Amino acid sequence: MDLNLANKVYIVTGGAKGIGAAISKTIVAEQGIVVIAGRNKKDNQAMVDEIVKSGARASYVTAELSKVEACEEVIDFTIEKYGQIDGLVNNAGKNDGVGLESGTPEKFFQSLHENLGHYYNLAHFALPHLKKSQGNIVNIGSKVAVTGQGNTSGYAASKGAVNALTREWAVELLPYNIRVNTVLPAEVWTPLYENWINSLPNPEEKLAQIVAKIPLGKRMTTAEEIADMTVFLLSSRSSHTTGQIIFVDGGYSHLDRSL
Ligand code: NAP
Repeated sequence: MDLNLANKVYIVTGGAKGIGAAISKTIVAEQGIVVIAGRNKKDNQAMVDEIVKSGARASYVTAELSKVEACEEVIDFTIEKYGQIDGLVNNAGKNDGVGLESGTPEKFFQSLHENLGHYYNLAHFALPHLKKSQGNIVNIGSKVAVTGQGNTSGYAASKGAVNALTREWAVELLPYNIRVNTVLPAEVWTPLYENWINSLPNPEEKLAQIVAKIPLGKRMTTAEEIADMTVFLLSSRSSHTTGQIIFVDGGYSHLDRSL
């Protein structure tokens, strides 16, 4: 199946690591051009070098996305460099453990800036360009939006809002033929996940417990499996799909817990 991404330009936030890196690589494997927006210059450079070495096209902007100006810069850079934006993948985020009891009001709002604000800001600044290209938006959500986890109010509020905004933006952007969808992972092995599991008292035991509860295959979802769905949704092959929250999680969030 040709996804028709050739010479189209896609912004991927957090596109140098974990799920974002898999999305960046999948886009360029389909002949698209990727602009990575992330806060770690070394990671950004390494990913772009790897992509360019393979003969594909990619650039990066080093940006702490919790800052509004940084989001505007990402869009300006992309337009200056390539003249168009065909899709935005809002992916950067972190389960930062700001709990109701353990957190503070300041930490809660900081978590919203780091996990949610830039989803809106980038979509807002990209909109005039997405209108021109009739491009689309894919958000990366989290199971925490629908299952709760405990001790992570900021992240849960952000991901809950991402689900709501997916429907809200899908409606607002109907007149422009801009589609908006969310891919929702549960348990994906990435640097973020590895850090989180290692922060627990018995990481190996905890990991085995989690994996045993993933219905399909009793295994973690791969970053590539999230990337495949994301890139399909970015492509014109999903041209009548909008406002959807698609769980790529081996059945973890919905299937019977006794399985
Ligand atoms: P990851 O391995 O940590 O990669 C995320 C990338 O985004 C990193 O490069 C990170 O930079 C960057 N980033 C995060 N916040 C940023 C910010 N405010 N400004 C600029 N760059 C930022 O994480 P991942 O596991 O791939 O997660 C990607 C997305 O999937 C997140 O939205 C996460 O919530 C969601 N998700 C993941 C899982 C899972 O099991 N892994 C499950 C559900 C949802 P640093 O390295 O500097 O932090």
